[in-house]
Amino acid sequence: MPHSDPCLPRLPVAGLTPMTTLDYPDHLACVVFLQGCPLRCGYCHNPGMLAPRRAEPGEWAEVEAFLGKRRGLLDGIVFSGGEPTLHADLPAAAARARALGFKTGLHTAGVYPRRLAEALPHLDWVGLDVKSPAARFDAIVGRRPGLAAAHAKSLKLLLRSGVAFECRTTVHWRDLDLGSLRRLALDLAERGVRRYALQVARTGRCLDPAYARPVPGAPTLGELEALVERLTPAFERLELRV
Ligand code: SF4
Repeated sequence: MPHSDPCLPRLPVAGLTPMTTLDYPDHLACVVFLQGCPLRCGYCHNPGMLAPRRAEPGEWAEVEAFLGKRRGLLDGIVFSGGEPTLHADLPAAAARARALGFKTGLHTAGVYPRRLAEALPHLDWVGLDVKSPAARFDAIVGRRPGLAAAHAKSLKLLLRSGVAFECRTTVHWRDLDLGSLRRLALDLAERGVRRYALQVARTGRCLDPAYARPVPGAPTLGELEALVERLTPAFERLELRV
């Protein structure tokens, strides 16, 4: 393990993907997964990453050692999870990765707007999950009321920040139908979101086993594709990720 400097950020690293083209649009990046998420989405395919834990000394030092060997080979690093904004040292880690010459990206569900505000000056790109229309948000993430308002603050922060970002919605037909998806997309476009992605939920392994079962009467992929085609003019970029 690299030397553990007590001044280094402390982050509970759950995993590192050394290289991907999928997690930071148009960039070659590594992804560092941070342990812990306050939400409990039924379709979550990474239940092992949900329980929070304290970071061990040296975990971030190992990531920096990795980055040191990837200078010139990778464009950036993405902080993912779990929920990366759970961690107080996220902004410091993003600042250090940037100082090493990497662009910095973040995947977040947007439920900690204050931490997002602290991190934004050190970020080049954000992927913000939009779980559902506000009225269904708390039910879908399986947590206490009030998180929809926190998420709305995060979206406002991003819209004002000038930092490049996309919104993305995981499509599981237990939670959404074509009508609510259409209304959600148009609402986001009206608020000023220019880049949006619909990601079909992976159902091989889900936190709630009911989400792994087929949904009776669910729309077909063709119907979803037709909706995406109709929505495309509302955005600068709209992607369907299957
Ligand atoms: S899918 Fe939901 S519960 Fe799972 S890590 Fe993402 S935000 Fe957390």
